[in-house]
Amino acid sequence: MKTISDDKERKALNKLQTLINKKLIKPTEAWSCFSKPKSEHEFKNHTVNLNENEIKSLNEVRQKVKKIIKQKISKRCAYCKRAMGQHGMSWNIEHIRCKSKHPRMTFILSNLTYACLDCNLVKNNAVDNKRNYIFDIIDPNSKGFRYGENIGFLQLSTDSIHVLKYKPISKAGNKTYEKLRFRELEHIELLSSLNDTIGSLCERIDERLSYLASSDDTLELAVFLQNMKFKLG
Ligand SMILES: [Zn+2]
Repeated sequence: MKTISDDKERKALNKLQTLINKKLIKPTEAWSCFSKPKSEHEFKNHTVNLNENEIKSLNEVRQKVKKIIKQKISKRCAYCKRAMGQHGMSWNIEHIRCKSKHPRMTFILSNLTYACLDCNLVKNNAVDNKRNYIFDIIDPNSKGFRYGENIGFLQLSTDSIHVLKYKPISKAGNKTYEKLRFRELEHIELLSSLNDTIGSLCERIDERLSYLASSDDTLELAVFLQNMKFKLG
């Protein structure tokens, strides 16, 4: 974020990154300071105090980041390409290389994008938190990246049917299709449009997911519920 931040903003970010580097706080804790900065963040091993200027700087740089990455992905999920605002899903800034395995990339702009909650939760389980961590899915921010060269994507909507179809092309595209469970996504999107009961059930699950995924304490429940939604398909 060095390129888009001024001195004050950089200083506030450096403060959080230094705490990560010194292992005083975890990357997820630093990220929560960045996402909702306040004067005192009490964590298990350390308390982060932020002054008024730091809070202001973090809020400003976060808005800049959101604007830049939103434009970059044309308001679509970087992985599944569904449009923002659909499916009642909340949209989170996504770390392409996860914070826990790449703590020094927590505040690196080229590591940030937007993802829908479905992709975010599935990726957490299938890629980021795997004991044997291998990043082999698409990196939407990599140099010269073109989505269409990795995954073919077709979306067709009428009043009565909604079809979503992916065709993995590259090796990374195949891994993305498999690990982010795009086949199940295709099924559940189609079924939701054909069957009102399933459609409204999915909507209700999506509403709950936004809330449950916002806290580490209820994240496991969010993953469980999201898994259940995919099984409906
Ligand atoms: Zn997605």
